[in-house]
Amino acid sequence: GRKVLIVYAHQEPKSLNGSLKSVAVEELGKQGCSVTVSDLYAMQFEPRATRNDIVGCLLNSEQFNYGVEAREAYKRGNLSDDLIEEQKKVQEADLLIFQFPLYWFSMPAIMKGWMDRVLVEGFAHKFPDCYDSGLLKDKLALFSFTTGGSREMYAQGGISGDIRYLLWPMQHGIMHYCGVKVLAPHICFAPEYVSEEKRKEMLLAWAQRLKTLWKEEPVNCSPEWYFK
Ligand code: FAD
Ligand code: ZN
Repeated sequence: GRKVLIVYAHQEPKSLNGSLKSVAVEELGKQGCSVTVSDLYAMQFEPRATRNDIVGCLLNSEQFNYGVEAREAYKRGNLSDDLIEEQKKVQEADLLIFQFPLYWFSMPAIMKGWMDRVLVEGFAHKFPDCYDSGLLKDKLALFSFTTGGSREMYAQGGISGDIRYLLWPMQHGIMHYCGVKVLAPHICFAPEYVSEEKRKEMLLAWAQRLKTLWKEEPVNCSPEWYFK
């Protein structure tokens, strides 16, 4: 069975994001996948990248450099336990699903903090081992999120601009940088403003997509895919 890590950022289990997460746990479980959920709010995940992430002595305590200190701490096995735990989950996973509501054209801060703190140099990337040779190659990622704005607002030429523009930092800048291939995003537009029935359809569509997910090809994660 394949291994899936769902990194989930919503405060409320009864939210649509909560339901989307549950649908994924259930459907992937049915397929025989082993599914792990990092429920960031429930874990009270620390989003801030600080010197608390390094256990013991710093390389340079006179002038703190987070990137350098985290890289060295990773090498020495001196990262804080919460980071080591998340890295283990990532290492074991074949697929990472990020489930969240869109906040300011991006992921909620708690999830951005997960990216900032977990994807440490030496673990996820190590220049020039980035993009296609990033250290997490052979893994897949999928961004699954909900919006306030409608599909029309996020269409090409729409008032908010093509939804693909805001996928560029997440899919290319973060995941592809770390070598991870990305599957097409799964977007539920404006769940708060549609009927109960339509929301049920959204959840069904997600379950349906998951049934054949492993047959999907990654997106062509080049500037053209986002900006053409
Ligand atoms: P919820 O309100 O939790 O869910 C919608 C409805 O679905 C609820 O009535 C819930 O009861 C119902 N539901 C849950 N489960 C089921 C089920 N199983 N069956 C049927 N119904 C169900 N939006 C943008 O477009 N762009 C932005 O830049 C943006 N920035 C934001 C910044 C902030 C700080 C905040 C707070 C919001 C922002 N938003 C933005 C809006 C946000 O993206 C949406 O509010 C969010 O995506 C809605 O998802 P939810 O899971 O929170 O919805
Ligand atoms: Zn890319």
